[in-house]
Amino acid sequence: MDYPGNLFVVSAPSGAGKSSLVKALLELDSHVQPSVSHTTRAPRGQEKHGREYFFASEQEFDAMVAANGFVEWANVHGRRYGTSRKVIEERVAQGADVVLEIDFQGALQIKQAFANAVLVFVLPPSWDELRARLERRGEDAPDVIDLRLENAAEEMAQASKFDFVIINEVFERALFDLKTIVHAQRLKYAAQRRARAETFESLNIP
Ligand code: GDP
Ligand code: ADP
Ligand code: 5GP
Repeated sequence: MDYPGNLFVVSAPSGAGKSSLVKALLELDSHVQPSVSHTTRAPRGQEKHGREYFFASEQEFDAMVAANGFVEWANVHGRRYGTSRKVIEERVAQGADVVLEIDFQGALQIKQAFANAVLVFVLPPSWDELRARLERRGEDAPDVIDLRLENAAEEMAQASKFDFVIINEVFERALFDLKTIVHAQRLKYAAQRRARAETFESLNIP
């Protein structure tokens, strides 16, 4: 599918700082919009339906799968998560830059559907720091943290399939890296040709 907007996919093991980085990017750059996923997990503390996620029952999720309503979906840490096909297709067709915060299985499905999608993998600086962040965040029970750490090794082994890697050690540095990736996509020939059509035409560039 050809489309005027850029699609950015950010994946990371739980606790690497993906949500913090994406949240900070969205605050800095009003041209980037988030994709709100559907999930069968329960809301955490401050999460609101329609803001962090659309929280769905197993039956509601099944119905969306059956109706081909997801452009990708996957089982992550024993729960199902999916990205609505309609929302993504509408947004990129309108020329928005959309950022998806999804797991690696979903990222690889998105690359199949949208060959131009830009895949970014966020790594923690070390295992000790990853555990410390999950514990400090204080959102998950100890058994859930253990499961997320067990899954992290397999997830991080997928980083080689991504276009870019950010090591989130110093937060501001990692945020700068993410902004740089977004900016570089906007400087690609096709994007510039579209965004600055008048300049190209005045320079007689076809
Ligand atoms: P929540 O979704 O609001 O609970 O956000 P998080 O717990 O993911 O992060 C809270 C806030 O702290 C975010 O707005 C981040 O931008 C910020 N943050 C997280 N880690 C760091 C850090 O190491 N340095 C700085 N400067 N900010 C951070
Ligand atoms: P994810 O979305 O990948 O699960 P979060 O964005 O929720 O991760 O980050 C996990 C925890 O680590 C949060 O409490 C966050 O504030 C913290 N954190 C994120 N980046 C950094 C960093 N560079 N240094 C220290 N703590 C960080
Ligand atoms: P959390 O429960 O911590 O919010 O997210 C758990 C995992 O599910 C993270 O790795 C996150 O990237 C992933 N995830 C969130 N939304 C989606 C989605 O729509 N599709 C896929 N495949 N994974 C998702």
